Amino acid sequence: MANSPLVARPTDALQPPKSLPPSSGGTPSGGLPRSARGQQIAALARPTMDLMEQMNEDEKNKYIKGKKLGEGTYANVYLGHSRLDSSTQVAIKKIKVQKEYQDGIAPDAIREMKYLQKLRGHANIIILHSVFSSKDQNLNLVLEYLPLGDLEMLIRDVDHVRYGAADIKAWMGMLTRAIWWCHDNYVLHRDIKPNNLLIAADGEVKLADFGLARSFADPGVRMTANVITRWYRPPELLFGARHYSGAVDIWSVGLVFAELIIRAPYLPGNSEVEQIALICREIGTPTEENWPGVTQLKEYTVPSDVVPVAGKDKYMGRFGAVGSDGVDLLTKTLVLDPRRRITAREMLEHRWWKADPKPTPKHDLPKKTAGAEEKLAADLKRRNGMVEDDDVRGSKVARKLDFGTAR
Ligand code: AMP
Repeated sequence: MANSPLVARPTDALQPPKSLPPSSGGTPSGGLPRSARGQQIAALARPTMDLMEQMNEDEKNKYIKGKKLGEGTYANVYLGHSRLDSSTQVAIKKIKVQKEYQDGIAPDAIREMKYLQKLRGHANIIILHSVFSSKDQNLNLVLEYLPLGDLEMLIRDVDHVRYGAADIKAWMGMLTRAIWWCHDNYVLHRDIKPNNLLIAADGEVKLADFGLARSFADPGVRMTANVITRWYRPPELLFGARHYSGAVDIWSVGLVFAELIIRAPYLPGNSEVEQIALICREIGTPTEENWPGVTQLKEYTVPSDVVPVAGKDKYMGRFGAVGSDGVDLLTKTLVLDPRRRITAREMLEHRWWKADPKPTPKHDLPKKTAGAEEKLAADLKRRNGMVEDDDVRGSKVARKLDFGTAR
């Protein structure tokens, strides 16, 4: 990783130099009166701050910013390249200054930096190369450039992009490994969906957008239920659970799996009530029998007609393209009771990966066609932005989170 003052060594730069005389119990030991010692510290600290600024300037000068690639809820993303080598491309995510936050930095940006640093080193997690601030105090995240769009583009471009079970197996393998890595490092992503799965030039799928991520090392801590884009949100969060686990991400992974197969969102609810109704209709009504304790959740309400939990036969009709083993794995990700839902590790041990067909090698996976981005943008407009789900992501929910306690 590049040596960024803001990412790599924030504390080093703020430490007073080691040559300062030690202080014991508030009594100056170097023979200087307290005020003189204070002045000495200030004088020594000043060059340290200048050094930080210089390091930030050096970091910023390593990159040249180019055209705009896209816009998210809290950032604009630009193409960039290394000043020394224009063939080394990066994506520069410039965080919008937000006055309502202390220091103007959205909590999403802080989460993204924190968790991308923590999860470094996995092939299926986007790389954060560096961070620097620009002259207007804007924070810039220098990310790995992923030029081949995202999984949503491929799923939707039914006219031009054809793919089969071997391709789905390859993409699902990459997604499952990414989630296993997050959970193994006690990080919940909390916004898994096809358009957060970006594609590298060599076909590798990378999990991106960690703006809603959080750590779940302490099981006793209450967390917000208001995360994950609605179509991919599990029943426990729809019922207001405040204690949850990696199972929330697994449900979303299952819905990405289903969407890859049918090439349309499987449970596209227009509201939370409709989302619950769709889950009940397609997967089954959560009851005390299939999910002990569910009726105690604060916002538990289900339609009065109880639908029994769907068996494998029902799924085979719609999702049979991935074979019996694939459908078995799918049904295990969509178990209503989060305690009985499959884990990422168990997913990786499932027999489907070893069954035929073998996953497509990443270089041979289908790629987006020219103009796919424009077409997708037009589609999204027609659907009134349903995919981005404004009431869930960013502007309202994430920013209400109390980042101080990293909820
Ligand atoms: P985000 O704020 O992460 O949702 O990014 C907004 C848009 O910028 C995305 O929908 C992509 O089109 C584009 N984008 C974000 N990150 C990258 C990246 N690393 N490489 C290429 N394009 C990106």
